[in-house]
Amino acid sequence: MLSIRNLSVHYGGIHALRGISLDVPAGKIVTLIGANGAGKSTTLNSIMGLVKAGSGSVSWNGEEMLGRQTKRIVESGIVLVPEGRRVFPNLTVDENLTLGAFARHDKAAIEADREHVFKLFPRLKERHKQKAGTFSGGEQQMLAVGRALMSRPTVLMMDEPSLGLAPLFVGMIFDIIRQINAEGVTVLLVEQNAKAALDVADTGYVMETGSISFSGTGKDLLADDRVRKAYLGEG
Ligand code: ATP
Repeated sequence: MLSIRNLSVHYGGIHALRGISLDVPAGKIVTLIGANGAGKSTTLNSIMGLVKAGSGSVSWNGEEMLGRQTKRIVESGIVLVPEGRRVFPNLTVDENLTLGAFARHDKAAIEADREHVFKLFPRLKERHKQKAGTFSGGEQQMLAVGRALMSRPTVLMMDEPSLGLAPLFVGMIFDIIRQINAEGVTVLLVEQNAKAALDVADTGYVMETGSISFSGTGKDLLADDRVRKAYLGEG
């Protein structure tokens, strides 16, 4: 279980996270939804050690993660697929995947995981020698997810994986999230596409201006009037 308690982040004078608390139970899919600027990316980036939290706690199976280097956090089993994908454009698919396994030394298992990624994303296999910069947005997103899986995560965090993708790719990405979770990986998902995220999630948290306003099961939030009005464009 990943437990976040009273997490607070300032960027200079901007109080981006105002003491948020949330739980990501092992084996589940949890989603954070909310408007632009609510603090969703900041939450993921501070769990990953990329943004320094002012106070609070990020506990992972009882161990404190705040203050650890990002590399150590990856080694402990938490990985982030960042917003905008950020694959290495001048490197091939193979090279990008190899970098995803940077913290590992078990060569045979790394090769097995590469084959597993190619099974999940046959398109990557077809293009394994192609440079990532020549890929479509959807293909780059697949590669970003594949690269993250190469670290053998226990918790996969994803920041807006469906952003800017054609509908066909959006459906594929959510299918893949379900599949990865069914294989035992815990998922913490940030999404603007609240409908698709709540459909796939066990639990959802709604963020507004640096705080969590309310939470519930994905199913309950989909039926909640406040969510329907503000995030599903209904009523
Ligand atoms: P979006 O969906 O637009 O990415 P978000 O919910 O992920 O939004 P954050 O990106 O976490 O929100 O931003 C939270 C607040 O912190 C916003 O007011 C944003 O302008 C501010 N912020 C984010 N990153 C920085 C930074 N590096 N420096 C200063 N302010 C920042």
